[in-house]
Amino acid sequence: MAIVTGGTRGIGRSIVLALCRAGADCAFTYANNEFLADSLSNEIRELGRRALPLQLDVRDFEGAKGLVERVKEDFGRIDILVNNAGITIDKSLMMMSSEDWTSVIDTDLTGVFNTTRACIVTFLKQKSGNIINISSVSGIHPLPGQVNYAAAKAGVIGFTRSLAKEVAPYNVRVNAVAPGFIETDMTADFREKYRQRLNDTIPLGRFGTPEEVARVVVFLASEESGYITGEAIQIDGGLGI
Ligand code: NDP
Repeated sequence: MAIVTGGTRGIGRSIVLALCRAGADCAFTYANNEFLADSLSNEIRELGRRALPLQLDVRDFEGAKGLVERVKEDFGRIDILVNNAGITIDKSLMMMSSEDWTSVIDTDLTGVFNTTRACIVTFLKQKSGNIINISSVSGIHPLPGQVNYAAAKAGVIGFTRSLAKEVAPYNVRVNAVAPGFIETDMTADFREKYRQRLNDTIPLGRFGTPEEVARVVVFLASEESGYITGEAIQIDGGLGI
């Protein structure tokens, strides 16, 4: 049984469907888009799996606790948590407002704390659990104009590595993936010229797909990766080399 935050679009949506194809039931959260949440629930049911769509702003600590209680009532247990919800507000530091900073840190970093904190006691008690955090190559090799996002995503990797050590004795694994440029709404408004310039910097010469990220998340969520914890796997076409 898996929880995926920000499951309605892009990478999160691919992760939800890939986990369900691999045999998991799935609760997923979304911020606003109820229509997309309904259509994803239908797709999950067509795969023969159970779906639970839940509206949650990952910045809401109490809301995250309520989400976990609801999932436990419905499914009885939680095996996998994927912290995927995230936003960017890219601008140079001299143009960045306090709100631009806080929105990204609260969603991309504190959001990971909120949902993980809400799940962790369940994982420790059942002596099993698997947490996968979606960081970014920006947290390792940042671009200019992203100090809020780079700080949040580097923070997610630090969070992952520290927690991995803390909970390993309880058979709970914690890993991250760090995608490069992936074809989603987040990158959809990049101008063609900029996209070409970026492709020239990516050794594989193209953006990745959400499915290519989802496949690695399924691997990390499975026993195939049973001896991996505290890792941040780059999925970036070689961008970080
Ligand atoms: P999208 O913008 O396509 O989707 C974002 C998802 O997050 C949506 O489901 C959205 O819900 C949800 N969301 C946004 N804010 C909140 C919030 N406050 N509370 C709950 N849910 C929220 O993003 P991507 O699929 O591109 O990105 C997914 C993750 O991957 C993010 O963490 C991102 O930083 C990371 N990433 C993306 C890369 C890329 O190139 N696309 C590269 C590296 C990392 P709703 O539909 O309701 O708005």
